[in-house]
Amino acid sequence: MSVAGESPAAGHTSSDSLGTSAAQTRSAEVEDLIHHDPGRFRVLTGDRPTGQLHLGHYFGTLHNRVRLQDLGVEMFVLIADYQVLTDRDIAEHLSEHVEGLVLDYLAIGIDPGRSTVFAHSAIPALNQLLLPFLSLVSVAELGRNPTVKDEIAHSRQSSVSGLMFTYPAHQAADILFCKANLVPVGQDQLPHLELTRTIARRFNDRYSAGTSLFPEPDALLSAAPLLLGTDGTKMSKSRGNAIGLAASADETARLIRSAKTDTDRHITYDPVNRPEVSTLVLLAALCLDHDPHQVADDIGSAGAAVLKNTVSEAVNEYLAPIRARRKQLAQDRSHIRQVLREGNERANTIADATLNEVRAAMSSIY
Ligand code: ATP
Ligand code: MG
Repeated sequence: MSVAGESPAAGHTSSDSLGTSAAQTRSAEVEDLIHHDPGRFRVLTGDRPTGQLHLGHYFGTLHNRVRLQDLGVEMFVLIADYQVLTDRDIAEHLSEHVEGLVLDYLAIGIDPGRSTVFAHSAIPALNQLLLPFLSLVSVAELGRNPTVKDEIAHSRQSSVSGLMFTYPAHQAADILFCKANLVPVGQDQLPHLELTRTIARRFNDRYSAGTSLFPEPDALLSAAPLLLGTDGTKMSKSRGNAIGLAASADETARLIRSAKTDTDRHITYDPVNRPEVSTLVLLAALCLDHDPHQVADDIGSAGAAVLKNTVSEAVNEYLAPIRARRKQLAQDRSHIRQVLREGNERANTIADATLNEVRAAMSSIY
């Protein structure tokens, strides 16, 4: 199915400034390279433990993670627990959300035998990289980041914390500690990836005489780099507009029925001019593995209610095996903890080695 270049993101005003179309072109090139030689890639991706994962995560990045893992790409999946505190005072229900993320990962097909699942607060050497990395970026560069600006606008806090302002540099540490060269992400992450590339380049230039201690990682965008929620803005855990992977079939149908549409009964796939209707069409298309234009044509002038029924059925059918697997896995919490412990251990070994290289490059081993 080919929907690249016409995702709902195209209707988003800042999509061009985020370099979405260039990233889509590069993603297509990278896909070719992956198919020829998956072993040359190491992936880092992750999520904040702020709530249940949703369809935006699934089609924006999770589906790609499993696909890449199954193609033989080495995979690191980060639970970004410190970053919960970018936009709130206290990380509520943290251990519940962390366990929920691990459950979701396992339920969708992340295999802890092949992929490393870890939490960055458990990896001291990763966090220490933040200090030299912060010295490589200016306050003006941090202040220009459009995703951070958007998140500040939606933040629950009355003032902007230092963590909110600097977390893209922290994210560079998340990615570069394991020298990942590929990051499957949604569109909102593109400015952060650009900063990671800048930090890697500057570190190499300044401290390793132009040799590549760090790679400059590529973003890998999916066919749904910005899935909208039921209110027509980015589907997001924190905005109450998301359809959770673990939601019941009835809850899913109710949420989809409540989704914003427009007044035109005739259903089309037109992400630029009809972002809400097109998101629903795209969701059905992704679940059914059909072309979104075909899905829209099949519904034609039957209207939004029929579209919503089609989407509910498609989503519920697609998610049924994932939901069943999640329920089964949830019965063994000790296994979830074990997956995380083993992942943390592996990540710590790698982070310690990278920090040693960094300290050597900076002449700070005494
Ligand atoms: P929060 O509101 O707490 O920030 P979130 O829903 O934005 O939650 P994150 O944990 O910040 O989720 O994002 C995890 C990953 O999922 C990132 O790669 C992000 O780009 C991707 N992602 C999140 N929401 C969407 C979406 N609506 N469409 C596509 N990708 C998404
Ligand atoms: Mg987010």
